Amino acid sequence: MNKRDYYEVLGLTKGASKEEIKKAYRKLSKQYHPDINKDDNAVDKFKEISEAYEVLSDDQKKAQYDQFGHANPNQGFGGGADGFGFEDIFSSFFGGGSRRRDPNAPRKGEDLQYSMTIDFEEAVFGKETEIEIPKDETCDTCHGNGAKPGTTPETCSHCQGTGQLNVTQDTPFGRMVNRRACHHCQGTGKLIKDKCSTCHGQGTVTKRKKIKVSIPAGVDDGQQLRVTGQGEPGKNGGPAGDLYIVFRVRPHERFERDGDDIYFELRLTFPQASLGDEIEVPTVNGKVKLKIPAGTQSGTKFRLKGKGVKNVHGYGMGDQHVIVKVMTPSKLTEKQKQLLRDFAEVSGDIPEEQSSSLFDKIKRTIKGD
Ligand SMILES: [Zn+2]
Ligand SMILES: [Zn+2]
Repeated sequence: MNKRDYYEVLGLTKGASKEEIKKAYRKLSKQYHPDINKDDNAVDKFKEISEAYEVLSDDQKKAQYDQFGHANPNQGFGGGADGFGFEDIFSSFFGGGSRRRDPNAPRKGEDLQYSMTIDFEEAVFGKETEIEIPKDETCDTCHGNGAKPGTTPETCSHCQGTGQLNVTQDTPFGRMVNRRACHHCQGTGKLIKDKCSTCHGQGTVTKRKKIKVSIPAGVDDGQQLRVTGQGEPGKNGGPAGDLYIVFRVRPHERFERDGDDIYFELRLTFPQASLGDEIEVPTVNGKVKLKIPAGTQSGTKFRLKGKGVKNVHGYGMGDQHVIVKVMTPSKLTEKQKQLLRDFAEVSGDIPEEQSSSLFDKIKRTIKGD
């Protein structure tokens, strides 16, 4: 693998801030966007940049990348350390069956994933709530051993409790001995004569379980929360797995969120924009007075510092960006039309020269700089 370092791809060094990563990505993706850059290797370069950004802009992926680099052993959801090890791969080639660990050793329960859709405000401010999920619980009747109360599971006599059987096979290369999971006890090493009637010998029952969840203030769409120990129960006294709650945030009618910042389109009438005004602008933190200077153009941006979203990791507050849109009236009364004609007559029909390049400003606003 001779993949370039993601930070290097973005022209950064390790330890670059979120803001620097974002900036670098915006700059480079514009530079190498295949619609703009007709260079032969622009497409590859663009892909490389996008991939680097995808990883470095995601807190969890970034943390994994910072730790493991490209040789990330925990690819996939939840970083399941219990997945395939070398042994499993080896045995699937040569054994044809599963080479199991000691069936009586304590094993951690499976992790569970739960997708939770929340409102925009709930994501911004957080919330204490409760969810109900179907979950395997240790059976109360038999305390998880699967045997009818008063009886105990017996050691499987076919495999002597190891859960494995040797299977001898004659092959052109000689006699081969494979180890297979014991089919008498399904690899558990135990036989249950009198099964528990509550769980039918499974040792677990499926219950709908209520779990308290604190949605952290500032959580964003796609982020996940780990609730330790609320996954499936462990086996043979092992610890329970974890529950991962993935948040889906419903969009807001008027606010748009980008990280901890909020964008808001402020519609102004032509007289408000040209004469100036003082306006109350809604923010997630309540209304804020905003002075509109006379001669404000469409696309002008105002920043309401600290009126965005509280950072989920506690790194301060985002801002609210207010972007002006001057509305052209479309339904005019006869009187309004006449006034506008009079206005036009005294103004002439050549638009006023704008200071700075307004067109550039609007372009930047659209692209979100
Ligand atoms: Zn039971
Ligand atoms: Zn057995």
